[in-house]
Amino acid sequence: MTFAHRHLLGIEQLKPDDILAILDLAETYVDLNRKSDKHSDVLSGLTQINMFFENSTRTQASFELAGMRLGADVMNMSMQASSIKKGETLIDTAMTLNAMHPDLLVVRHPHSGAVDLLAQKVNCAVLNAGDGRHEHPTQALLDALTIRRAKGRLHRLNIAICGDIAHSRVARSNIMLLGKLENRLRLIGPPTLMPAQIGEFGVEVYEDMSEGLKDVDVVMMLRLQKERMDGGFIPSEREYYHRYGLDAAKLSLAKPDAIVMHPGPMNRGVEIDGTLADDINRSVIQDQVEMGVAVRMAAMELLARNQVARRMA
Ligand code: ASP
Repeated sequence: MTFAHRHLLGIEQLKPDDILAILDLAETYVDLNRKSDKHSDVLSGLTQINMFFENSTRTQASFELAGMRLGADVMNMSMQASSIKKGETLIDTAMTLNAMHPDLLVVRHPHSGAVDLLAQKVNCAVLNAGDGRHEHPTQALLDALTIRRAKGRLHRLNIAICGDIAHSRVARSNIMLLGKLENRLRLIGPPTLMPAQIGEFGVEVYEDMSEGLKDVDVVMMLRLQKERMDGGFIPSEREYYHRYGLDAAKLSLAKPDAIVMHPGPMNRGVEIDGTLADDINRSVIQDQVEMGVAVRMAAMELLARNQVARRMA
């Protein structure tokens, strides 16, 4: 298994074989995580620092648990409450942490491109845990693993990504990943929530849910990212739910065995009906959370191996 990358900054830099290497290794961690003894020592002796400059619940918990299960020393820095408030620049913060010799830095930042910048300044492997509207690579990888396990394959599927595409790093990373593996992608949402460069994505675009959902295998819903909106993108949440919220009636247009996904956190009754989100016959939302830990363990193992090999060279 080869994975010739120093960092995991985005899906954009990965080849299909890199993606499959992470997913295949992650399968072994799905098995480990279902045992009562979930411990491995592949990161034993290594230090992982999680730096979250933006709020996170599941991603931070998932990375933390992933590192602990692999035997790393894991430290969480809540950057909201720390020295950036005192005016320190991102680079100064990075250089300070770098001097403590971490092996893996997991970074979330509200600005697109900030994680790439930081990766250029430090000696360790950097994993992007979400930067602005740019990328969220581990989310796309865990989504891919969830789809592959539910559908038995990860190519030639009809996949609809619905809702607030414009503000979503999850959508960008997924469009790239699923496109690289030759799936047919449809983006569904109001024109106000479609990115300006939509033509470059090589996808079909629909404004109408009932047209876009026809015969799809996978329905991926996105949260309305109100924190990234600075104006009237939608008339009202009620109206939005009526036109774009996924409920059983709209889902009935998809294939009968279509699965429902959502990266979380969910706005129930805004982009998705709460009962449908909880329906374990259709919704794989909890599987996505489970796959997240396994995918992060796999990505960290592959990067740590390269990191150790580089130091010995
Ligand atoms: N948790 C995902 C993210 O950080 C999706 C979301 O926030 O809506 O991008």
